[in-house]
Amino acid sequence: MTDFGFTLSRSATVDLDRVDRSRYERLVALAPDARICMNCGSCGATCTAAPFSGMSLRKVLLGLQRGQDVRPLLDSCMLCGKCTMVCPRGINTRRLILSLSKVYD
Ligand code: SF4
Ligand code: SF4
Repeated sequence: MTDFGFTLSRSATVDLDRVDRSRYERLVALAPDARICMNCGSCGATCTAAPFSGMSLRKVLLGLQRGQDVRPLLDSCMLCGKCTMVCPRGINTRRLILSLSKVYD
């Protein structure tokens, strides 16, 4: 193989037909608000835990839709409620986060 001096990274594309979305569907059944998130990122931008853990409810919801394990992010949430105050969709984010713990029962 010719060495061009660089390598190509594997595509980060997620095949949504192949990932396990069962936990996301369980969350939607418990907290239908999850469906109206528009991924604006306001929750992550204001999150108290974000500076030291990278926590963002947006990331959590996207991760669940992609079949990823989001528990490490959830562990850093302090339930402070700042994300609830800024969410433009009026999502009760704390309720959503509490419902997420049941998704992993
Ligand atoms: S409730 Fe949790 S996710 Fe929301 S801003 Fe506070 S620490 Fe972040
Ligand atoms: S602020 Fe609300 S609408 Fe925006 S990404 Fe967070 S949960 Fe979704």
